[in-house]
Amino acid sequence: MTTQKLDIDAVRQQFPILHQQVNGKPLVYFDNAATTQKPKEVIDALSQYYTGYNANIHRGIHTLAEKATSAFEATRSAFRTFLNAAGTEEIILTYGTTDGINLVAQTFGRSFIGKGDEILISTMEHHSNIVPWQMLCEVNGCVLKVIPVDESGELDMAAFENLLSDRTRLVSVVHASNALGTINPITEIIRKAHHVGAKVLVDGAQAASHLTIDVQALDVDFYVLSLHKMYGPTGVGVLYGKKDLLNSMPPYRGGGEMIKEVTFAKTTYNDLPYKFEAGTPNIADVVAARTAITFIESLGKDRIAAHELSLLQYATDALQGIDGLRVIGTAKNKVSVLSFVIKGVHHQDLAVILDQQGIAVRTGHHCTQPLMQRFDITGTTRASFAVYNTTAEIDRLREGVERAVKMLK
Ligand code: PLP
Repeated sequence: MTTQKLDIDAVRQQFPILHQQVNGKPLVYFDNAATTQKPKEVIDALSQYYTGYNANIHRGIHTLAEKATSAFEATRSAFRTFLNAAGTEEIILTYGTTDGINLVAQTFGRSFIGKGDEILISTMEHHSNIVPWQMLCEVNGCVLKVIPVDESGELDMAAFENLLSDRTRLVSVVHASNALGTINPITEIIRKAHHVGAKVLVDGAQAASHLTIDVQALDVDFYVLSLHKMYGPTGVGVLYGKKDLLNSMPPYRGGGEMIKEVTFAKTTYNDLPYKFEAGTPNIADVVAARTAITFIESLGKDRIAAHELSLLQYATDALQGIDGLRVIGTAKNKVSVLSFVIKGVHHQDLAVILDQQGIAVRTGHHCTQPLMQRFDITGTTRASFAVYNTTAEIDRLREGVERAVKMLK
């Protein structure tokens, strides 16, 4: 456990994009749950790859190809350590969380979830953890069941237990909600799901940059994440899967790299992890992603989380007094996401006025329309905090919201 506090000014220096004016005001970037900004090291790693050793990986024996391959595989190893997976063959490199979930739906789902079998998700899922299962249900005749969420934005765990049955094949839940911030009790969910013989997929898109994840300790079957939400480039994700499970699944996309031998009579598939990595991957971004992991590890996740949680607390207190403001998502355990509505103020109008003051927030349904329906709202304004944010920026948010409320009410 690292106890020394972070030097946030020094951290901010590493992010070139933060030092600019937007609409004549210093940028305040509070849209981190959508995507985080990238430190200079990550941007440099991309450029070094393209200027120094761009080549296609795995197949070439020339020097550049070997260098690119070893950088690509070094990222896989870094992810193995980051998630504490048992081996690198359990780390499938994807294009992001959405891609990882679709992979599991189209391989594990198509093979092991049949007619009348049940998949449990929750009301707070991102569309990317709803639609792939609906698509599977249309094809396979399986049934989607939904764990309700209470008024504070926590899962109704009693209802979850009631929904579990010997028909449950998969429980697929978000680790931390992008719309509410709620951190779900995934250890308990995994244990209870396993008790009825179901597998568990955890959507870690919002958790991976804030929480320590040990896939072996969790005993989770699948864990998915996106690097662009973790200070890394877009177009890179990880699907962690238990080796035996991945081995039992058919491949996803067909093409180069995922094969051992191709004849017109029969194709044999490659070993893990390549079996699930058809075609030329997003090499440059994967290579640069390792730098993002190094960035997180060098600061220490516990220190990042402590800073973000202090910002969340500060912001919650700061906005609380604003007339008509209601926080959506008041769970006990949250990541640094603050969603709110203000009576008589449309979130879209609020966002436009904040943007005029250089403050970037996200508004709308946050790709969680069923969750918005649950709270009987069309959307929220969401401020989400990352390691480079400050309380001074939150003061600007409060002033901005107060100004907007005066103008709009
Ligand atoms: N799941 C959650 C909780 C998210 O917040 C997001 C992105 O906002 C996703 C899934 C989808 O991630 P991506 O668009 O990187 O595939």
